[in-house]
Amino acid sequence: MKAELKDISAQGWLCETCKAPLEVLPADILYMGSSFTVDLPRCPKCGYTFIPPELAEGKMREVEQILEDK
Ligand SMILES: [Zn+2]
Repeated sequence: MKAELKDISAQGWLCETCKAPLEVLPADILYMGSSFTVDLPRCPKCGYTFIPPELAEGKMREVEQILEDK
């Protein structure tokens, strides 16, 4: 399942370890018992996936809406 989350951008994000610019790549997440593929900023060097605070705190509502819509 592919979830499209708006307002997720890798622009300006740097990996704290590598200081490399993050790239927005599909990432598998598990939420409320369902797995989703969402585009999240990820470090191309170490593979660290950055969860934006907006996603952790509020944007998951969009995922919940997607769940409810199916
Ligand atoms: Zn890194």
